[in-house]
Amino acid sequence: MKIYEKAPAKINLLLDVLHKRDDGYHEVEMVMTMVDLADRLEMQELPRDTIIISSQAGYIPLDEKNLAFQAAKLIKERYDVASGVYIHLDKRIPVAAGLAGGSSDAAAALRGLNRLWKLNIPTEELQKLGAELGSDVPFCVTGGTAVARGRGEVLEPIEGPPQCWVILAKPPIHVSTQEIYGRLNVGAIERHPSTADMLRAIREKRFADMCGAMGNVLEDITIRHYPEVRQIKECMLRLGADGAMMSGSGPTVFGLVQKQSKLARIYNGLRGFCKDVYAVRLLP
Ligand code: ATP
Repeated sequence: MKIYEKAPAKINLLLDVLHKRDDGYHEVEMVMTMVDLADRLEMQELPRDTIIISSQAGYIPLDEKNLAFQAAKLIKERYDVASGVYIHLDKRIPVAAGLAGGSSDAAAALRGLNRLWKLNIPTEELQKLGAELGSDVPFCVTGGTAVARGRGEVLEPIEGPPQCWVILAKPPIHVSTQEIYGRLNVGAIERHPSTADMLRAIREKRFADMCGAMGNVLEDITIRHYPEVRQIKECMLRLGADGAMMSGSGPTVFGLVQKQSKLARIYNGLRGFCKDVYAVRLLP
């Protein structure tokens, strides 16, 4: 039997860091949602006790470093599964881009293997397993829109933002999330975005207010080291995006656009100096 799972990319409409905790993690407050740019996972049970990962993407690890592999290993060990699995990853989300591609693959593997091996693991339990793999994995297990606190694993689901187009543009650089957090000095953050303003804008479906409430305290740090991120953001706004911001620790910049008539101009303008550009919708 073969089963399939989609692993969509996430964007942060807001990313704030409140303080550094005693355990070394940062206490965050994020508003996350998903877009319809997704990896696809094909999973097939193997009679022997082994996990095999394949992918058409030449630039991700296919061994135990792959987050889908780690998800399969974790679920196999915790639930004493004797059989193995072959997972093919059709990668479409750019890697190390700030779009949580690896985390979403891990979450999709947890969901898919729960079905494939008929384990009936409740969603909250899958999220707990996910938290062992990475801070963004619990959110990716359910998707939707949520406020994430703690180190990203304490989730409060909220209603979806007003529907719009999302243009994603990734400059040809890889940014390590760890490196950016390592450079962050929380005391030196000049302006924290307001989660309350963002939640009100979403609740009242006020698109312009939502764009105005966007903020990401990691943006300045990434831009300091990778100025092309600023260029892309400025270019998006100049071309007519209603709001633009870096996602996660970058380097992908996303722009929100309400009018479809503006899309082609922004898309084509960005393609002029950036190969990885996508025009997608928010996932409802
Ligand atoms: P995050 O913000 O959670 O770090 P990201 O979107 O910036 O996510 P990913 O695409 O998840 O970055 O990749 C981060 C690292 O994880 C890369 O160095 C990559 O080699 C590794 N990785 C492991 N498994 C995967 C996977 N299934 N897909 C993509 N990258 C993976």
